[in-house]
Amino acid sequence: MHRRNFLHWGSLGLSALSFSGFRNAGIAQKPLVISTWDAGIAANAAAWKILRSGGRALDAVEKGVMVTESELNCCVGLGANPDRDGLVTLDACIMDENANCGSVAFLERIKHPISVARRVMEKTPHVMLVGSGAQQFAVAEGFPLESGKLSDDAERAYKNWLQKSEYKPVINIERGKSPQAYAVPTKLANGEWNHDTIGMVAIDAQGNLSGSCTTSGMGFKMRGRLGDSPIIGAGLFVDNEVGAATATGQGEDVIRICGSHLVVENMRNGYSPENACKAAVERIVKVKGVAKCKEIQVGFIAINKQGEYGGYCLQKGFSFAVCYADDKNFMVDGKFILS
Ligand code: ASP
Repeated sequence: MHRRNFLHWGSLGLSALSFSGFRNAGIAQKPLVISTWDAGIAANAAAWKILRSGGRALDAVEKGVMVTESELNCCVGLGANPDRDGLVTLDACIMDENANCGSVAFLERIKHPISVARRVMEKTPHVMLVGSGAQQFAVAEGFPLESGKLSDDAERAYKNWLQKSEYKPVINIERGKSPQAYAVPTKLANGEWNHDTIGMVAIDAQGNLSGSCTTSGMGFKMRGRLGDSPIIGAGLFVDNEVGAATATGQGEDVIRICGSHLVVENMRNGYSPENACKAAVERIVKVKGVAKCKEIQVGFIAINKQGEYGGYCLQKGFSFAVCYADDKNFMVDGKFILS
């Protein structure tokens, strides 16, 4: 009898503790869409049109990031910086509320990798297609094969890079910029971009979650290099019972900790989205050490099943876009753990 009471009160006490200890106060919004970096504003606006009219989060996260993929001279899609052989290779993945997922990687000359990833999810028994096989599938599905010509900005950036051809694949400061450079997560003065990805997660009016992530990867990367962005659990993860998360920054370090999956599991254990992201960033610091972390950037964003959102990053300079109404589409500066 006493023991039963003890267990009962014990478990109540534990959950009360975890909620007051880990959760942030915050107004839950539904529907809601959030995405990485300032390109997220335009992407959110497209996603919001679908969410506002009662549409599915899956459609919203696909249509949202397609806006960014379409932009010429942008950090994502065919207009982005090439690899060190001068070729643009794209990675993307998508995941829905039923744990269905699809991914493409090392895909060339296709404008919308996110839509090919969705077709992989919906039309094949597989999760991931890469390289020429992914391209072959895309063409068979009716996606046009584009020219492969570099955008003006990418051409200029590549020519600059070729002058030294230094292989310094350090995200966000890879072009020899000081840490202050990524206080402006947009196009740099020399026309180059200091990040290469958009990740988006959304909850629809029905309370279902989905996410998408699309990238050209690191500028001037080794040919064949993949980052976290097309890898389910690393660059993106959705669990419809709990929440959804996506990542940006140095993909190798996100892969090492299964970053987006870790963020979702942190939320399952009672953390708010912001604290779940923070704990994942702390894990990277623990694994890699403070000194090496000062050379890179990683940021996570997340939403939970209640429609709360949050983000966290290693260093100052990461921001994300939040949208939950026609006139509520705004940037939030990511909190950071290194100073
Ligand atoms: N995470 C991407 C990658 O490592 C890059 C980025 O987020 O900018 O390929």
